[in-house]
Amino acid sequence: MDFSIPQQTLELLARVRAFINEEAIPLEHAFLNEGFGAVLPGLERLRGRVKDLGLWLPQIPKEYGGMGLSLVDHGLVSAELGRCPLGHYLFNCQAPDAGNMEILIEHGTQAQKQRFLMPLLEGKTRSCFSMTEPEHAGSNPVWMSTTAVREGDQYVINGHKWFTSGADGSAFAVVMAVTDPSAPPHARTSQILVPADTPGFEIVCNTSVMGHRGEGWASHAEVRYTNCRVPVENLLGKEGEGFAIAQDRLGPGRIHHCMRWIGICERAFELICNYAVHREVAPGEPLGSKQFVQDWIAKSRAEINAARWMVLHAAWAIEKHGAKAAREEISLIKFHVAGVLMDVLDRGIQIHGGLGMTDDTPLAFWFRNERASRIYDGPDEVHKLVVAKRILKEVAGGMR
Ligand SMILES: Cc1cc2nc3c(=O)[nH]c(=O)nc-3n(C[C@H](O)[C@H](O)[C@H](O)COP(=O)(O)OP(=O)(O)OC[C@H]3O[C@@H](n4cnc5c(N)ncnc54)[C@H](O)[C@@H]3O)c2cc1C
Repeated sequence: MDFSIPQQTLELLARVRAFINEEAIPLEHAFLNEGFGAVLPGLERLRGRVKDLGLWLPQIPKEYGGMGLSLVDHGLVSAELGRCPLGHYLFNCQAPDAGNMEILIEHGTQAQKQRFLMPLLEGKTRSCFSMTEPEHAGSNPVWMSTTAVREGDQYVINGHKWFTSGADGSAFAVVMAVTDPSAPPHARTSQILVPADTPGFEIVCNTSVMGHRGEGWASHAEVRYTNCRVPVENLLGKEGEGFAIAQDRLGPGRIHHCMRWIGICERAFELICNYAVHREVAPGEPLGSKQFVQDWIAKSRAEINAARWMVLHAAWAIEKHGAKAAREEISLIKFHVAGVLMDVLDRGIQIHGGLGMTDDTPLAFWFRNERASRIYDGPDEVHKLVVAKRILKEVAGGMR
């Protein structure tokens, strides 16, 4: 078994790291303190630089204008980008657009690609994914009330969604809606592309999350669909494939998220170590001389390393055997890495004392926003249940 990273990938990672350190992190303070809108002009300028450097769309195949990286290599890049809250946006591989690009490439018609995918790839538009409803348990993705009823050559969509991340300013939403209530549960829903200027598409509000409503890409909207009419050509894939397409999105998507979280952990770790060395509690007595702090540093290092290898192994397993065969590894990383992330961020805030609670470092922003890592894309408990049930079944069947 060879754990070494190829020289070519190491060089790419060094270029990405330099860009994040020199270009992205200087914008961070304004983003954290003044919001997404305040830094948007700077972000657009830097996105141009990323394109010029040939680093645009690392996760997308070359024929669609991306770098065509493997899942493992993109995972490694994602960890570098995750060190700054703006990293993924700058390289156009941010959620939820990255997932929407993938499903449009996989399931979109030529016309859908032309109209919806190309502007996304070029970074001219943003998009959102509208599945969760306030009235239903989002962790049961086959249970929802939003309907898309066919009338002639149109679908008429009615429903109520929330946590549609980045809907504010998006050009279109990918909406999950029931198209056949009488079908078996996994075949009831479809995914439909709804342009944001369709009459009846209404952003009720950006939901306040941990005291912040956010704006633009950095927000989570409540959305109503009231007699929203779109042509049947806006159906993504076939009728009844909504759930299956959503599953397609989640396998590699969890690698993307988990490696982003590793990047956040690495940045928090850098901040922890730097503060431990430079903050003195008395003259000549740095925080790092305290055993509590040494314990946090050693524990964090071990947990981040372990989490990193688990995710890279899961990415390798997906590439080698497919997402279905790797579902146990995917569930394991989803809850495990989210837990490591919260622990490392908590230590980061604790060591920084009052400074940790401010927006002078990204720690508080991440602590607020990434608490959701234990909830979205399947809450911890659901992933644990899935893994444990499978193990117990195999043990009972003499397969383990
Ligand atoms: C910041 C953020 C961004 C999001 N972005 C999007 C987005 O862009 N698009 C979108 O459609 N949705 C999005 N979501 C919604 C997210 O997918 C849901 O919150 C998630 O699926 C959980 O659904 P729920 O909130 O309805 O919780 P519920 O399903 O009501 O679950 C509540 C809690 O119950 C427990 N639980 C649930 N099921 C089980 C079970 N089977 N066994 C044991 N315990 C269980 C878990 O602890 C869970 O946290 C986002 C959420 C957050 C917080």
